[in-house]
Amino acid sequence: MSTETAKTAAVRRPDWITEEVLGELVSRVPSSTGASWKLTEVYTGEVLVALPQSSPADVERAAAAGRAAQREWAATPLPERLAVFKRAHELILRNQHKIADLIQAESGKARRIAFEEVCDVPMVISHYLKRAPRLLKDKKRPGVMPVLSSSIERHPPRGLIGIIAPWNFPFATGLSDAVPALMAGNAVLLKPDNKTALSPLFGISLLEEAGLPKGLFQVVCGEGPDVGPTMMDNVDYAMFTGSTATGRVIGEQAGRNLIGACLELGGKNPMIVLDDADIDETVAGSMFAVFGNTGQICMHIERIYIPDAMYDEFRDKFVAAVESMRIEAAYAFGPDLGALVSPDHLARVQSHVEDAVAKGATVLTGGQARPDVGPTFFEPTILEGTTKEMLHGVTETFGPVVSLHRYSTLEEAIELANDTDYGLNASVWTTNFKRAQAIAARIESGNVNINDGLATAYASKSTPSGGMKQSGVGARHGDQGLLKYTETQNVATLKKQVMGPQGKQTFDDYAKQMQTSLRWMRKLRIR
Ligand code: NAD
Repeated sequence: MSTETAKTAAVRRPDWITEEVLGELVSRVPSSTGASWKLTEVYTGEVLVALPQSSPADVERAAAAGRAAQREWAATPLPERLAVFKRAHELILRNQHKIADLIQAESGKARRIAFEEVCDVPMVISHYLKRAPRLLKDKKRPGVMPVLSSSIERHPPRGLIGIIAPWNFPFATGLSDAVPALMAGNAVLLKPDNKTALSPLFGISLLEEAGLPKGLFQVVCGEGPDVGPTMMDNVDYAMFTGSTATGRVIGEQAGRNLIGACLELGGKNPMIVLDDADIDETVAGSMFAVFGNTGQICMHIERIYIPDAMYDEFRDKFVAAVESMRIEAAYAFGPDLGALVSPDHLARVQSHVEDAVAKGATVLTGGQARPDVGPTFFEPTILEGTTKEMLHGVTETFGPVVSLHRYSTLEEAIELANDTDYGLNASVWTTNFKRAQAIAARIESGNVNINDGLATAYASKSTPSGGMKQSGVGARHGDQGLLKYTETQNVATLKKQVMGPQGKQTFDDYAKQMQTSLRWMRKLRIR
């Protein structure tokens, strides 16, 4: 395995990331208690900045300030609101490398994925700039009585949207989910993960530079259980991305407060290689599918099912490709694999591998931490012989670890792919697209990528993307990715009072007339 360990030179932090710059960035986070959290650079473990920690009272004040700013924003004509995002689109692209620097500093990911993460926000802006005018326009619908009545469907904003974001894509989950919420006329209260608050804070400063009213996008920081409950008591809708365990807590709180929630949760994502797949292309595609973001992508592949007859060739080529990966700490393009986000997460990934080995699995390559490269690096790892008795066999490892499995019939492969409580993403590789479509329809997963691991589905911003089973409730992207941040109002007009028996009409006659009308409306397809 190639590990370029020119540590001191490669790991040099970009000069513009200074104490002053970071101090200014975190100054918008309220903390009346003065409590702070040491936010560190992952590649070195050095403290970057003391991140203020918000108390429940700070959360309440931030929510109130967001609500106050929201009233004027909701009354701002839609074209003016959208103009802010047109400018923000350009500002984000102009600052893309700076944002990628911050993402790398706080998460330790490789440059390529940090750069690609930034792309997500302009993609979402672009999509909703196109769709928002149509989605937010009042729509005239047929009324209950043809001619005599009408109905208008309206979508006013909900008010204050709470967004709770994870550390694995801090800029994308912090901002991309906020964009449609803001376009729809809401204020946002964001709680990023403590580890990765810098890139979303920088993104919000760019939105404000683009003209977003100050106060509309509030941020609070703190450990989830400290900040979360007050947040959930003060917002009108919750957009949560994170683990299934925390999603359940958020869902319960949303239920108690009778507010809506979109929960984007974990996965245990399978890939099925069909017997007609091009092995070289599949191996090449598997590299990102499994190891992109060092395996810390909710949609990344953790299980690969390969036909018996192709297994040995696939395994040997895959192992060879993985052994040529470049692991390195660098604020530059080049390395294939970055670090894991924290020492705690490294311990989790390592424990999954050790548990698998202790219960009989074989490590085909990798399996070791790499302190020589940086404090939280872990080798890309391929396992064979894993079972459901092992942690890696059933739960999300969320690291650069994958297991290979043989199958003899397609039925068996589909059954194994579905044999999980999760249903976030799946991948099918073949040269026969029609066959793949038929298989996709049988996979219990909110996203199915054909001849790709994950990016093709996630980047299709017109189509809603969410999880089935324990992987989530609701979706982001597509029309519902914006409409979920709105109320639905039905404004119905009756031009003449014609409901109920008219004049001296008896109820019996009225009932017959009603039934006749319903039959005719059905025949004429009016109702
Ligand atoms: P996590 O659930 O521990 O934390 C996510 C966020 O929730 C963090 O900001 C955390 O501080 C906060 N939080 C934790 N407990 C809370 C509570 N009681 N109340 C309110 N907020 C609370 O998840 P994580 O380990 O940070 O992130 C990784 C997980 O996220 C993985 O399971 C991954 O699959 C999932 N994820 C899912 C998607 C998706 O779109 N489906 C995308 C990215 C990550």
